[in-house]
Amino acid sequence: MTSSPFVVPVSDLMSTAGSRRELDLDTPIEWGFELAAVGPELHAELILENASGVLIVRGPVATDLGLTCHRCLTEWSEPLQVDIAEAIGFEDDTDGYSLHGDDVDLEPVLRDVLLLEVPLRPLCRQSCLGLCATCGADLNTGSCLGHDEESTLPFAELRDLLEP
Ligand SMILES: [Zn+2]
Ligand SMILES: [Zn+2]
Repeated sequence: MTSSPFVVPVSDLMSTAGSRRELDLDTPIEWGFELAAVGPELHAELILENASGVLIVRGPVATDLGLTCHRCLTEWSEPLQVDIAEAIGFEDDTDGYSLHGDDVDLEPVLRDVLLLEVPLRPLCRQSCLGLCATCGADLNTGSCLGHDEESTLPFAELRDLLEP
């Protein structure tokens, strides 16, 4: 026996073509993704429907996305809402999702859908300047005042001559 809130018995739907049922999910989740965290809560108002031999799962899924800027490492959180529409085979289907006995496990379905919404390289804003490579200061805040080593570069003197 599993106590996962994502595992739902659907034998009633499987027995009658065209039958449907509503399913509200309110559950904490702990799905780590690279540079992002989904959750900590997930809310979904789903409709499960037997449509000619497949179980259709559709409806809005809402959670929060905790992101870390790829350049400056600033962290922030933003709401994430996705309308899902997925088909789950009644028979074992190695190409997609399938039922486990009389149950459907919606966790991999929802995980896959939400993973697609996670940006690969989150940016706090498109123009983010990132961190100073020398001192690590956040260049967006202007807290790095520059470094002296520029004047020791071989071309610095030449540049001074060209730009009086
Ligand atoms: Zn940033
Ligand atoms: Zn610096």
